[in-house]
This record gives sequence, C-alpha cells and structure tokens, in this order.
Amino acid sequence: MTANPLLADWTTPFELPPFGDIQPSHFEEAFDLAIEKTRRENEEVANQLAPPSFENTIVALETAGKTLTKVARVFFNLTGAHTNENLQRIERDIAPKLAKLSSDMLLNPKLYERVVTLWEERETLDLSAEEARVLERYQKMFQRAGAGLDEAGKVRMAEISQKLAILGTQFSQNVLKDEADFQLVLETAEDRAGLPDFLLTAAAEAAKERGLEGKHVITLSRSSIEPFLQFSTNRRLREEAFKGWTARGENGGETDNKAIIRETLALRAEMASLLGFANFAAYKLDDTMAKTPDNVRGLLTKVWEPAVEQARAEEAKLAEMARSQGENHEIAPWDWRFYSEKVRKAEHDLDETELKPYLQLDNIIQAAFDTANRLFGLTFKELEGLSVYHPDVRVFEVSGKDGKHVGLFLGDYFARASKRSGAWMSAFRSQHRLDGEVTPIIVNVMNFSKGAPGEASLLTFDDARTLFHEFGHGLHGLLSNVTYPMISGTSVARDFVELPSQLYEHWLSVPEVLSKYAVHYKTGEPMPQDLLDKLLAASNFNKGFETVEYTSSALVDLELHLLKDPAKLDIDAFEKIELEKIGMPKAITLRHRIPHFQHVFSGDAYSAGYYSYMWSEVMDADAFEAFEEKGDVFDPETAEKLLTFIYSAGGRQDPEDAYVAFRGRAPRVEALLEKRGFPT
Ligand SMILES: [Zn+2]
Repeated sequence: MTANPLLADWTTPFELPPFGDIQPSHFEEAFDLAIEKTRRENEEVANQLAPPSFENTIVALETAGKTLTKVARVFFNLTGAHTNENLQRIERDIAPKLAKLSSDMLLNPKLYERVVTLWEERETLDLSAEEARVLERYQKMFQRAGAGLDEAGKVRMAEISQKLAILGTQFSQNVLKDEADFQLVLETAEDRAGLPDFLLTAAAEAAKERGLEGKHVITLSRSSIEPFLQFSTNRRLREEAFKGWTARGENGGETDNKAIIRETLALRAEMASLLGFANFAAYKLDDTMAKTPDNVRGLLTKVWEPAVEQARAEEAKLAEMARSQGENHEIAPWDWRFYSEKVRKAEHDLDETELKPYLQLDNIIQAAFDTANRLFGLTFKELEGLSVYHPDVRVFEVSGKDGKHVGLFLGDYFARASKRSGAWMSAFRSQHRLDGEVTPIIVNVMNFSKGAPGEASLLTFDDARTLFHEFGHGLHGLLSNVTYPMISGTSVARDFVELPSQLYEHWLSVPEVLSKYAVHYKTGEPMPQDLLDKLLAASNFNKGFETVEYTSSALVDLELHLLKDPAKLDIDAFEKIELEKIGMPKAITLRHRIPHFQHVFSGDAYSAGYYSYMWSEVMDADAFEAFEEKGDVFDPETAEKLLTFIYSAGGRQDPEDAYVAFRGRAPRVEALLEKRGFPT
C-alpha cells in the first residue's frame, strides 16, 4: 500500500495539507488510525498514577489527538467547500464515530475526577490567567457533556450525541442535494426579461458548469437567486424561483428534513432535561453571554417592534410602486426584492447595475487586506503554484508589522455545485504554542458568481459586505495569540464570535476605503462622488425587511428549543403559528425556513443561537463608535486595544470582561437601533 499522505509529516510549503495527493479513500484509514491513537492518548492521561497536575492532565489533553485534528480539519473543510459522493458517504460514517470518541473522553470518570480535583484546587495551583481560563473551560466542557451524571445518564448522553451527529450530517447533505438539484433554465427572451448583463453572464457560467453550455441557469446560490428576484420582470418565474428556494428541505422523498428536525429537537430536549435544565435553550444559553432565553427574547423583541413598523412602511411604498406600473396585486414575497430595487432607484437614484461595475472582487479583497494593514499592520502576499483543493482557491501569506510570518490565508470565492451555500470562515490549522509556534491556516469560503472568462468578477454591495464579514472572522483566527488550542482564535462564546466579523463590515462603508477600491472594471475610474454619496445615504434602505426576516428566524429558533415535547411537532403548522403570533408581515418570509435552517440543524453550533448575530451587533455598533469618537476610523490607539482584547485574545477572557477591557464600559443597545435607523 502506498503511504497515506494524511498520516505522513507534511513537507509542503508552510505545511499546507498536500491536497494534490489526497484521495477520499485516504480519509477512511486515516480516521480509523487517528481515532484509535487519540483514544489511547486520552486513556493514558486518565489511567496514569501520578496525582493530577495542570501539566499531566490539561496540557496532556490539549496535546492529545493531534493527528486526528489534522485529518478532521482537512476532511470537514472539504465536505463543506468541495464535496462529492465518496466524501459524503465517509462523512455519514465518521460523524457518529467522532461523537463517540468525544463522549468516551468527556464521560470518562477518571478524567473527570482529575479535572474536578484541579478545578477545586485552582487557587493553589499557581496558574497564569490564561491557564486558569483553560481549566475553567475544561471543567465546564466536562460538566456540560454529562460527566457528573450517573451511569445510566452517561450511557444515554453518549447515545444522544452520536445520534445527533448522524442527524446533523444528514440534514446538511439533504439541503445540499436540494440546492444542487434545483435549476431554473431560462430558455426564451421572455424568461430573461429585465435581467442585467452581469446576471446573464453569471447565469451562462452556471449553465456551463452544469453541462448546459449556451443556456442560462439560475441557481439557489444567493448571488444568483437574489439578483434574479431583484430584476426579473417575469413574475411567474420569480414565483417559481422563490418557491424553489424556500422549499429546500421539505420537498418530500429522501431529502425531506422534517423527520430529522423532529428527532433532533426531541433528543436535544431530552439531553437538556438529563442535565437538569428546563429546556434545550436554557442549557445552550447557560454558556453564552446572553445566559438565559429571557435575555435573548428581550433583545429580539426590543428590535422586533420598530422593525415591523418600518417594514410595513416599506411595503406600502412597494405596493404604490407596483400600482404606478399598472400592477394591482398585493406584494408577495417574490415581489419584494423586485419592487424594492425600483423604489431604491426612485428614492435614492441608486440601482444595483450602476453600482456593480465598481465592485470588483479583486479590489474588494485588496480593500479588506488594506484595512487590516491600517488597523493591525498586516501585509498579504499572494503565493502561486501551491497545491490546493480546487483551482479557484487562492493562497496568501500573511506577515506582521515586523515582517514576521503570521499565517496563511486561503480565499475560495466562487459558487459551485460541490459547495454548501452561504459563506464561512474555517481553519486548516489553528494558532497555538504547545508544539512550538504553530501558525494558523485560515480559509474564507464564499458563493459569489464568477465573471465571464477573462473578465473581472463583480460583486453586489451585499456580497462585498459578506467578504468583509468573513474576513473579520479570518483575522480573529490569523491574529490569535494564545498558548492553548482550547481558546484559540474563534473559540469564544457564540454570541461574541460575530463581533470581530460584524465590526469589520463597518470599514467597507468608510468613504476613504470605497473611493480607493471601488473603481470601474473597464475604465479604471473611481466611483463618482455622487454615486458614492448615494450609496452611503441609502445604507439603511430596506432595513425593516432585513431586520424582520432575520429577527423572525431568531425567534423561531428560540421557540423551537423551548418546546417540552417536540417529538410529534407539525413543523409547517408550528412555523405558521409562531409567525402569526409575532405579527409577521405576509410579504416577508423567514430568512431561513425551518426545513433548511442549517445554522440550527447542521450540527448544533447556532442552535438556540441564531440570535447571536444581533447580540454581537449591539457590541459591533458600539465598538465602531469608539473609533468615530476619536474622529479617525483607523485611530491607532483604539486599534491597538481592539487587537489586544478582541482580535488576538481568543477565549482568554470572559467575553463580557474582554469587551469592557476594550471599550472601558459595557455596550449600549441604543447603538444598534441607531445603526439600523430605528427610533431609540
Ligand atoms: Zn459570521
């Protein structure tokens, strides 16, 4: 047998995974061996005779599982960004095995005893602040996994974790399948009516990728479907596309997610009850900044009322616009973006097609890099010729002020059928110092439409904001400066993790950034001042709609996880009733309907946690004001504090303390309402 590249030492530049040599079949062997190795390492820690010390227990656990981490990071980055049937089959097989390994460790009584002993003796251990924090995280992790339960309880917790891992994998594979299966082929001129050139170009590229050369295809990637809904004058096709988009995960048959959702919710509720919590939301929120369901609901409702009021005012304008064009129908969800674009044009003399030629992907990437340079002194150099997992992936070496290597940044920007929808940041390697200086390898994955061959890829302003957002997460990973993997980079509370990303979005709208990087892709002319002014003046346009579609999703997520007995839940009816209860405008749908709510059901990262974006937004709105108060959005002193307490700090501190250390006080919720243009 040839050597398995996943198990060998990587001698590639920067120890980048040797993507060119890796075959799907390598993962099966690598996972089996790495899981066994990790199990042995954990047991050695558990079974040693020496009394527990921070070194022989916490540091030992932090160092265990190195091979597995390496293999798993490559694997799960691929299943998200460039999957295939072989990888998906292995994913279904491996998810419960990994869950079992994790349960076996977290429910091991000897390990738990060691951690508890250390926790009780923490005052006498002479730990640094960072070590004390890592110990606290371990103690909490064991406790929350059920290590303190009786034998029967532990057995059941292990079963539940494995089953949940299987369900989460199935859920996301089903959504991906429904997304890949959907395509709206535009055959006639009537089908293409109203569509701008950039969208036709992207639709022709999408058609080519799907083997329909010469035709035009609209896909369910946001960069394809949203502009279609904005510009298509063909109302029947808009309806068809919208319904396809919102029906992901509930199409009946093999990819239908409803049974998976019921089972997931029931298992989560059972888990919470085993651990002594009233419901899963209470369990989940116990380890966040928000702490309780009531605090979450409090914030969401505070925003909900003014948002609905604003959305109703927006809807009235859309209806008036429709009437002025001789259309007497009510505004349906598939009409909103279409008329909204027209109202924006009328009110702000601004339309997407006018803006788009100035928003070239390459320039927005440069703008994100330049902002990082001005704030944190980072420089980025593109590296050619490295072996990556798809030809579209670009690699940049990141250096610090002193020229020292900081890490690698990978950018994977374009939509394709093998990629999950949405946008995200992930790591092939996280920063820490337990094995010498380990530098991070961070990736941003997007779903932008590709430009025509030889032409620039153009973004919408929303796309550009997404790029800045994910790059903000990327910096949180790249700038991480900690010793222990447990608290590296983005390993922070879920409702804190969106602070570095959402805060970074603010710099995209800074006039001096836009005027430099928003230049016409053909003429090279900078965006005219009046267009720039109009763009900034319209920044709160449609905010009622955006806030309503987001906040309703967050409320539905919360309510789902407050249910006592979700096993027989009628998901369709539940969704309708909840939306009625909160007075959801009929012309707006959830940003994520339950059957394809990946944040919540593809794994549990954002379960009872979709509110996190808004929780973090309270902080990002307030944090950006710290720069504005100084009269300089790149104020060096404020940037230095931001680096020290937020971007480089990982989970070294309690999130609330970290924020206060940066800002000198707690955030004000009014900053969020002001930012969204709502009355305070
Ligand atoms: Zn984010």
